[in-house]
Amino acid sequence: MNAVPPKISAPALTSRLAVIILAALALAGAAVVFLFNPSTHAFYPVCQFHRLTGLECPGCGATRAVYALLHGNFSVALRDNALFVLALGALAARGVWFGWNNFRGRANGEFFPVKFLWLLLAAALAFTVLRNLPGFAILNPG
Ligand SMILES: [Zn+2]
Repeated sequence: MNAVPPKISAPALTSRLAVIILAALALAGAAVVFLFNPSTHAFYPVCQFHRLTGLECPGCGATRAVYALLHGNFSVALRDNALFVLALGALAARGVWFGWNNFRGRANGEFFPVKFLWLLLAAALAFTVLRNLPGFAILNPG
């Protein structure tokens, strides 16, 4: 006889509380970035990978990209960190898709299937290599 183990899932209240806390933290962080330009204020953390190697990591320029997005400068945001901007767009599209499915009563799968995480990792590696090559200065925020 094969007994099926019970599915373990987080209680709905805990999941909702986690989402509310994460959303509040994201909004607070966005407010700080909106009010204080990362290019002119020194209290933002410095990328240790960039400080040690002089190379751009996949996250370099992301804070400046958020600042540019919050001020409506999409092209500047893309120049600062194209991978971050595109990943943020994909995340937003995924969230809208999930919300739409919930609204229509359809079942959603995982929010981040493993294959998407592997794709993001591969994109981050390729982006990191490309943005540090001389011929791809457009991907380097400088
Ligand atoms: Zn970095």
